[in-house]
Amino acid sequence: MKLEIVTNSPEETIAVAEKIGKMLRGGEVIAYKGDLGAGKTTFTKGLALGMGLSTDVTSPTFAIVNEYTDKDKTTLYHFDMYRISDDDDLYATGFFDYLDGKSVLAVEWSENIADSLPKDAIVIDITALGENRRKITVCGGMFE
Ligand code: ADP
Ligand code: MG
Repeated sequence: MKLEIVTNSPEETIAVAEKIGKMLRGGEVIAYKGDLGAGKTTFTKGLALGMGLSTDVTSPTFAIVNEYTDKDKTTLYHFDMYRISDDDDLYATGFFDYLDGKSVLAVEWSENIADSLPKDAIVIDITALGENRRKITVCGGMFE
């Protein structure tokens, strides 16, 4: 079941993402589409909350990948693929190592690694409709 939601604040986006985070069991890849400032990192904050991870999520722009882990919880790897342009770059991020079927991978700028995404990735497209208004489309994976 494909989802289409419009949110009117970052808090609403976080609340939607939190619900989806609660549905994750490990092994899912979340592939974001959307421009700078769309709300991909904001959405990931909600995912982490829903997964019971208490650390505050920040943008992985400089680190390329941030790891969020907590005792007895599924680990979340949050990637920014903005600067990733070939397979060698992608291998160096650890992406393939973390595709272990146990962790959740949330990938900003997934457009840059389209050929390497699993077929059952959950695709989350975020489009700005206004200053605080966003259209969020969720499809693929359990939302197929
Ligand atoms: P991205 O990771 O896609 O570049 P961020 O999540 O870092 O985007 O930034 C999104 C920005 O848009 C934040 O400043 C956030 O407060 C703002 N914003 C405004 N309205 C919304 C909304 N409805 N959903 C998500 N973010 C919103
Ligand atoms: Mg971001």
